[in-house]
This record gives sequence, structure tokens and C-alpha cells, in this order.
Amino acid sequence: MKKVLILGGGFAGVEAAIFLRKEGFSVTLISNRDYFYIYPTSIWIPTGESKFEDICVPLKDLQKAHGFELIIDEVTAIKSKENKVYCTKETYEYEYLVVAMGSGKMKHQGSENFLSICGVPEDSLKIKDKIDALIQKGSGKIAMGFGGNPKDPSNVRGGPAFEVLFNVHNQLKKLGIRDNFELTFFAPMAEPGARMGKQALKMMDVMFNKLDIKKHFGKKITKFEEDGIVFEDESKLESDFTMFIPAGNGHNVFANSDLPLNDSGMILINDYCEVQHNFDESSETQKGICKVFAIGDSVALQGPDWRAKQGHVAEVMARNVAFNLKQMVLGSDARKGYEEHINILCVMDSGDGAAFVYRDNKGGKMIPMPFIGHWLKKGWGFYCRNSKLGKIPRIPGM
Ligand SMILES: Cc1cc2nc3c(=O)[nH]c(=O)nc-3n(C[C@H](O)[C@H](O)[C@H](O)COP(=O)(O)OP(=O)(O)OC[C@H]3O[C@@H](n4cnc5c(N)ncnc54)[C@H](O)[C@@H]3O)c2cc1C
Repeated sequence: MKKVLILGGGFAGVEAAIFLRKEGFSVTLISNRDYFYIYPTSIWIPTGESKFEDICVPLKDLQKAHGFELIIDEVTAIKSKENKVYCTKETYEYEYLVVAMGSGKMKHQGSENFLSICGVPEDSLKIKDKIDALIQKGSGKIAMGFGGNPKDPSNVRGGPAFEVLFNVHNQLKKLGIRDNFELTFFAPMAEPGARMGKQALKMMDVMFNKLDIKKHFGKKITKFEEDGIVFEDESKLESDFTMFIPAGNGHNVFANSDLPLNDSGMILINDYCEVQHNFDESSETQKGICKVFAIGDSVALQGPDWRAKQGHVAEVMARNVAFNLKQMVLGSDARKGYEEHINILCVMDSGDGAAFVYRDNKGGKMIPMPFIGHWLKKGWGFYCRNSKLGKIPRIPGM
């Protein structure tokens, strides 16, 4: 049986493990966390609607359901010329490698003064503590926003900042203390969320006005301070608590590896998720045999200007790798590419409803789904956990 080593136990790594097992490979998965974290539904932790455990799926349970080997270890370097992965506890050799370790984050001055819903999972609980403390106090200023990556716009993630802020608005409203709080949404770009399309932008504006959420757009962020955010013109947005999502860039392990990277440190792949090695003209890669694949948030995504890194794209890449590797081993030329599957698809929660957001080459749509949208997203969380554990059937393509 051919052996595959997968690095990372997120959307990309777990899906790859499941589908490579289905294709008959022997699979080992290395992760520094012992659980798969369902990031999209973590937005409810800060407002107490979900518990931390609700968002975690133990990797041991996924291992039992799909029969892969699991190693909890921290990857420190990948040396593809040596077919080796260096970890804190041990060094591992591989026959085939799938890199699925997510991304790193852009650095910001004063980053100790904000928390991110897209950072380490435990930060979601710290965000909850900060919001709870302000609720106890009875009033305050809360600012939430996201940043850009000029070298690679596909790594910008704003949706969860909208979602957490809308949920906080609803929480305060239910408690009857919304009027005592100033909520502000901030971003350095003039039109945050523009890649979702013009109609979505208009709708977001209507939402901000309706919910009395202030906007602070179009000024570059200089630094974060304990009591607010300072911008390029030295103006300051005062904030008792700041939630900020830095844009993604290359994982720090990639800088300590011999994989080809783009300017922001993401791994360069082709449409089939094969890592584009350029150091060895005579390598097997040149003969159509690829040993290293990269998927999910770790890669330099190709595609239209509005492309975005999302969980469902990570999963398409993972399923394609399982198919492509099987075909390669069988000596077949059949391959599946990911680029035709690039779209933006999400249900953006607002605490009491949601908006269905879809963007493809034809344009963008945002369809309001009062009440039902919230429960649809909850239902997806249930589906995600239980279908991966093999407890309910998979819906094709989901
Ligand atoms: C709050 C939030 C909401 C989102 N909402 C949506 C949504 O509604 N729809 C959507 O499609 N997408 C959404 N996304 C995006 C989606 O979650 C990501 O695109 C997806 O998680 C990428 O999967 P991944 O496996 O590439 O990376 P990750 O999920 O980040 O997984 C990376 C894995 O690698 C492991 N790892 C990292 N470093 C090391 C190391 N050094 N050694 C060993 N293991 C390591 C981690 O423990 C983890 O298991 C959201 C993201 C966030 C943060």
C-alpha cells in the first residue's frame, strides 16, 4: 500500500485523510492540535451561543472512523529534497506528502492589544471574557475589523468580523443595554467586502445603518494600542476592546523549508495541487510523478481577483489530491483541477438571521435569510461534524 503523510488536521488535512483512505492509501496525519476545529461556527463562542467543545472534533474519533494513523507533533521544517519532515519530537520520512497546515498571519505593531477570531482557537474564549467584562461594566466601545495583504488579496478574511460584531449587537440588544455601547467596524480598505460584489456592499451598508454600527474605512492602520487603533493620519479610533483579523501570509514553517513560495510565503502549486518544484530538473516531478502536494489556506491560490481562501475550496483540493494521486500511481493521466471550483460561498450569520453570500465570475449575490439563515448555519455545523465522523451520509460535493 502506498503511504501518504499529511501535515495538518484542519478542513484540508482531514478531508485529504478521509479521501486518501477511501482510495486505499495508508495515511498518517500529523497535527499540533488533537482536534479538528470547525472555524466557521466558532463565531458563536464569543457571545456564549456555542461552547468551545461544540466546535472541536477530536482527531482520535476521526482516526477511528477512517483508519488513519495520528501523530500529535509540531512541524518545524519540511525538506522535500530529503523526503523528510522535521518535528519537535521526531523526524518523519515520507513516500508522498500533503501539506495542509493553514496560513500564518500578517504582523501588526501592538498586536498584544487585540484578539482575533481567526487566530489560535483558544482566543475565541478570551474574546468572550473581554465582552463579558464590558457587559458587567454596563457600557463601552467595541471595535471589530480586518486587515489586508497587498501582496496576496486572497488571504484577506473579513466575513467572521462582520458576523461576530452582528452577534455582539444582538447579545447587547437582548440584554437591553445596546444603547450604552458604541460598536464600530473598521478596515483599511475603502470598500471592505467589495469582492462579494456591489449588491453585497450596499446591503452591508444598510445593515450597519440599521443596527447603528459606526464605520471606519479607508485609512491604513499604523498600530494597535490598549485603548484603540491609530491610523496613518495619526487619528485614533477609541476602543475598550478590539477584535481584529490580520490577513494571512505564509506559515512560518514554510520559510524554514525548501518548498517554492510566492511573495507572501504561500506554497506555489499547479491546478492539480502539485507543488511546483523548480530545483531539480531531473526529479521525478518532471516525469509526471509528484511527491509533494499542498492544499487549503497554505497555498498561493490562483484565479480571479476576487478569489478567497475558504473551507470548501480546501476540501475540493483535498478530494482532488486523493483522486490525482490514485491516478498517478495507476499510471493514468486523468487529473482534477481546483481552479474551476473557485467561488465565494458562505452563510454570513447575524445572530438572529443570516445572509447567503455567493460570488462567481458572473457577479455576486447576497440574499437575506431572516431567522432561518441562522439555523441553516447551525445545521451545517451539525452536518460538518457528523458527516466527517461517518455518522450521517455525505451530501455529494459538500
Ligand atoms: C472564524 C472563521 C470563519 C470562517 N468561515 C468560513 C465560512 O463560513 N465558509 C468557508 O468556506 N470558510 C470559512 N472560513 C475559512 C476556513 O475555515 C479556512 O479556509 C479553512 O479552515 C482552511 O483549512 P486548512 O485546513 O487549510 O487550515 P486550518 O483549518 O487552519 O488547519 C490547519 C491545521 O494545521 C495544523 N498546524 C498548523 N501549524 C502546524 C504545525 N507547525 N505543526 C503541525 N500542525 C500544524 C493546525 O493545528 C490545523 O489542524 C472561516 C475561517 C475562520 C477563521
